[in-house]
Amino acid sequence: MAYEPVIGLEVHCQLATASKLFCGCATKFGAAPNHQVCPICLGMPGVLPVLNRTAVDHAVRMALAIGGSVQQVSVFSRKQYFYPDLPKGYQITQYDRPYCLGGGVTLSSGQRIRMTRIHLEEDAGKNIHAEHASLVDCNRAGTPLMEIVSEPELKSAADAAEYLRRLRAIVRCIGASDGNLEEGSFRCDANVSIRPLGANILGTRCEIKNLNSFRNVERAISYEILRQAEILDGGGTVTQQTLLFDANSGRTQPMRSKEDSHDYRYLPDPDLPALVISKDRIEGIRASLPELPDAAKARLVQACGLAEANAELIAQDRGTTKFFDLTCEAVGAAYPAPAVANWLIAEYLPVAEARHWDLAESPIPPQRVAALLQLIAAGTISGKIAKTVFGVMLDSDEAPTSIVQRLGLVQISDEGVITELVERILTHNPGPLAQYLGGKDKLFGFFIGQIMQASQGKMNPDLVNKILHARLAERRGHLD
Ligand SMILES: [Zn+2]
Repeated sequence: MAYEPVIGLEVHCQLATASKLFCGCATKFGAAPNHQVCPICLGMPGVLPVLNRTAVDHAVRMALAIGGSVQQVSVFSRKQYFYPDLPKGYQITQYDRPYCLGGGVTLSSGQRIRMTRIHLEEDAGKNIHAEHASLVDCNRAGTPLMEIVSEPELKSAADAAEYLRRLRAIVRCIGASDGNLEEGSFRCDANVSIRPLGANILGTRCEIKNLNSFRNVERAISYEILRQAEILDGGGTVTQQTLLFDANSGRTQPMRSKEDSHDYRYLPDPDLPALVISKDRIEGIRASLPELPDAAKARLVQACGLAEANAELIAQDRGTTKFFDLTCEAVGAAYPAPAVANWLIAEYLPVAEARHWDLAESPIPPQRVAALLQLIAAGTISGKIAKTVFGVMLDSDEAPTSIVQRLGLVQISDEGVITELVERILTHNPGPLAQYLGGKDKLFGFFIGQIMQASQGKMNPDLVNKILHARLAERRGHLD
């Protein structure tokens, strides 16, 4: 039987603040256990939470970036449950009155995945289960999160992964979060159900908790879709439950039966007044938004003439977009923008990624890249030689022009010199020459290879092509 998957995602995204949501404790990753705690985030009696202003600004920025509607009044509630990593006995979150409603993200297929809501909440601590004891680290307790909830509109595991990538590109672009999956700043729960193709009602859903890589999101959802289809095919019914994904076996496993929201006994937090966000503040944040990935992509295609795929690649990261723009600006009209994009994607970005460069502080800044590309544009070196020069630049501060001169890499564009070499190569290869003249056109590439090898790649390829063509045509002419 054919089924249609229905997937909704809840993303927990840590906001880029120096301190926690309701106290002054640091949020730095990797501190010694229980070294970033205070009476407020440990839930001691008699303390009062104070809301972090920067966290709210980041959250509003995100709401505006996805076209959501910022609510001028929202309310913090207590979500009550007992768990060792939750010292207060409740989590402060937004329940029936979140700060943002609506918005959405558009996939490359053109489908717009709508958001239900975004709300602010604090993270819990962490339980560490050792051999003879269970330990609790409260460093994360009180860390500011926004939970971004989509409508159940995603139709495949691949779409879910693309949605997450786009969402992460946006949070990083606007600086609301570092989007770091390894450190848990960006993690997701997936609600998955299936229904017979064409059916209107939703099937019973299962929630897969705490997926922390794009690959595991895809794997877990794909597995879950198959698992549910097998149950329905066998005449069974899917039970609503919470699952954990085991990355080693590639399977989902039951964690606990799902609580309903009434189990949490939500109530408005009496310690916190309603969050009121003024129109002025919202408009001020809107005015400060940078160019978003979708807008950057459109500009790169329309104004710079980039191919769709290249534009997508450069626009998905704000740092890369900036680097590209600055390189184009520095290189000027001599080297066209699409060629700059090709060069960055083929040569520069793979190195930057392998060496973990922050493009804003890259050891090879846009000006140096531009100096290299200008040498290609001026015909001083070929694209091939540029790779050699770039290799040298990676580990020195030497200017590209100086490297080219020192290593004698200047491109030979003297037609007399090129003609001389072309003639020599033809004379030294009588066999291939006779075959070529006999009609084996493919051997043209063989001669090019020989010439380039003999000149160590230094001859201007366009001129070599032109002159070789002329010389061979002349010989064929003699035969006729
Ligand atoms: Zn604290």
